[in-house]
Amino acid sequence: MREYLKFYIDGKWVDPVEPKTSEVVNPATEAVSGRISMGSAADVEKAVAAARRAFAGWSETTREQRLDVLLAIQSEYAKRQDELGDAITEEMGAPVSLGRGFHVALGAGHLQTAIEVLREFKFEELRGSTMIRQEPIGVCGLITPWNWPMNQTCVKIFPALATGNTMILKPPQLAPFSAHILAEILDAAGVPAGVFNMIQGSGSVIGTALSTHEDVDMISFTGSEPVGVQIQKDAAPTVKRVGLELGGKSAFIVLDDAALADNVAAATVGMMGNSGQTCSAGSRLLVPAARMDEVVASARAACDSVTVGDPQGNFAMGPVVSKSQFNIIQEYIQKGLDEGAQLVAGGLGRPEGIDKGWFVKPTVFVGSNDMVIAREEIFGPVLVIIGYDDIDQAVAIANDSTFGLAGYVNGLDIDQVRAVGKRLRTGWVSLNGGFDFHAPFGGYKRSGNGREWGEFGFHEYLEIKSLLGYASA
Ligand code: NAP
Ligand code: MG
Repeated sequence: MREYLKFYIDGKWVDPVEPKTSEVVNPATEAVSGRISMGSAADVEKAVAAARRAFAGWSETTREQRLDVLLAIQSEYAKRQDELGDAITEEMGAPVSLGRGFHVALGAGHLQTAIEVLREFKFEELRGSTMIRQEPIGVCGLITPWNWPMNQTCVKIFPALATGNTMILKPPQLAPFSAHILAEILDAAGVPAGVFNMIQGSGSVIGTALSTHEDVDMISFTGSEPVGVQIQKDAAPTVKRVGLELGGKSAFIVLDDAALADNVAAATVGMMGNSGQTCSAGSRLLVPAARMDEVVASARAACDSVTVGDPQGNFAMGPVVSKSQFNIIQEYIQKGLDEGAQLVAGGLGRPEGIDKGWFVKPTVFVGSNDMVIAREEIFGPVLVIIGYDDIDQAVAIANDSTFGLAGYVNGLDIDQVRAVGKRLRTGWVSLNGGFDFHAPFGGYKRSGNGREWGEFGFHEYLEIKSLLGYASA
């Protein structure tokens, strides 16, 4: 049992102003795995005041001073990687190999990237006689989801720190353990008091207190569309900057060539990773309609190869995060059946032989783009295959979505792959599996408005100042 009852405010572990706790449930066992404190607006007041006090000094630090702090964090993070991974397994059910592996590696990758960008970043630039300076925006509220806890948290904290901001992190109730360990890492690394603060609790209490706060300059949020909309409304009266990373219903386009079966298999297995709980997941698989039989055979075999079970064991997929997510996913699978999609693999209920824990069957449908299962983000291991007649139609289907987060194009003809990638109305397109920590990540349309990762992630947290007449003409 983990007991994480203190908050990290002004460089110290402190009790909440009003004691109140909540249980955290392990989604693989349905057993209580720990307790956290649930903060109140009074805790937010203390943290914002600490962050404001710390801003005066931290915003004036040199690049080298901030680099030293990030390097110190890096060595503390390295010491506690497995602990972080195990916490992620316990809180959101990722298999140990994934928790200790890619989950933790994503956090480390964003830290290393922030260090590399900070070494080179141009905070000042002379244009004619004007000096253009990029300055930290101030006190930032960081609100994060449970699905990739280290990724979503590190992609905010490290750029915010590197650019001289101070911050209050509100981790998700469903995945609070890894955030607590991360706060211990920042503490051990000697981040100055008040620069980083962390309060656990509910989004409607802590999140709202941050979004509406007079003395918070910016909110960076990753999560669902309705909450993103609410935060913008809450932040409007104080004219805060609001960075939003929301959901997606991204298309994975497989071109008509000799690699079709392999690409379909890769797309199918990829969709099931992290139990399908990935905002950028390629959840609509677009394939040449004329080759649907081949596609279905490949997708079915790939889906059936995805083993599901105890995240402590040697399985590819663990449970989904909670009973509530399990139920939502079951409703979507039922919806798919009701609207006449063809079930290729998986389906309703838990996988064979599992009677406890929020385990979902990896599921593949063949459907059409007007179906609910092709339009709404399911956030579970459910793939919808859609046929296209030609490339123009594939692009039209891909872009026919209220979301615009990611896209994938796989094929043997790299010129065609590139050309299709350019036509997608999304912020992040992976060509034949391309991946890059320095590439800006974020959405068009209702997938959000921000760009995180790498140098673009720094701009999220910077104001721009013009000093006119700086250089004498
Ligand atoms: P969510 O409800 O949007 O929660 C994300 C974060 O916002 C959590 O820390 C949450 O706190 C907080 N929050 C909730 N209400 C708030 C409010 N009124 N003001 C400020 N903050 C608030 O997302 P979720 O529950 O984690 O997942 C639900 C859906 O969101 C998923 O099914 C998926 O569609 C989408 N999602 C998208 C991404 C992405 O990366 N784009 C990631 C995760 C989820 P609590 O701790 O109280 O929940
Ligand atoms: Mg929620």
